[in-house]
Amino acid sequence: MTENGVRPERHRPAWNEYFLKLAMLASERATCPRMHCGCVLVRDRFVLATGYNGSLPGAPHCDEVGCMVVNGHCVRTNHAEINAICQATRHGVILTGATAYVTNMPCTACAKALIAAGIERVIVFSEYHDTLAERFFKESGVLLERLPMPDREIHYDLDAFASAAPPV
Ligand SMILES: [Zn+2]
Ligand SMILES: [Zn+2]
Repeated sequence: MTENGVRPERHRPAWNEYFLKLAMLASERATCPRMHCGCVLVRDRFVLATGYNGSLPGAPHCDEVGCMVVNGHCVRTNHAEINAICQATRHGVILTGATAYVTNMPCTACAKALIAAGIERVIVFSEYHDTLAERFFKESGVLLERLPMPDREIHYDLDAFASAAPPV
């Protein structure tokens, strides 16, 4: 660190990287061991809703009672994108014009739900097989961007603040 507190080596995440990292953080709450996904819905750099793949409210989780596999897919959970949309709905949040930051390329059903909810841009860093998402996004004029996976570590930089002591 220099005398005036400037540390040139410090990496400050750009906005897209920041929201993708939040999506990764949301995925930590996922309860289906077959895949952990996260989704963050954002408008004007404002987080509108977050979601991860998990069971319906009050229902048992895959990681407690096992997956419910139908045609090779676990159907017990709602996917991250659907749960984020549902969270917005419960709180009366309008999603028109928002951007969806998702850890994985949405499945076909989630892609359709995002489009119908008014999402205009989708940003992902990782793929998902067996999806028509790209085709539906293109048909509906939803922008799709693939960005590199952000750093998987969270850097909580307590050392830089003399007034805050890290635990000993
Ligand atoms: Zn499952
Ligand atoms: Zn899905």
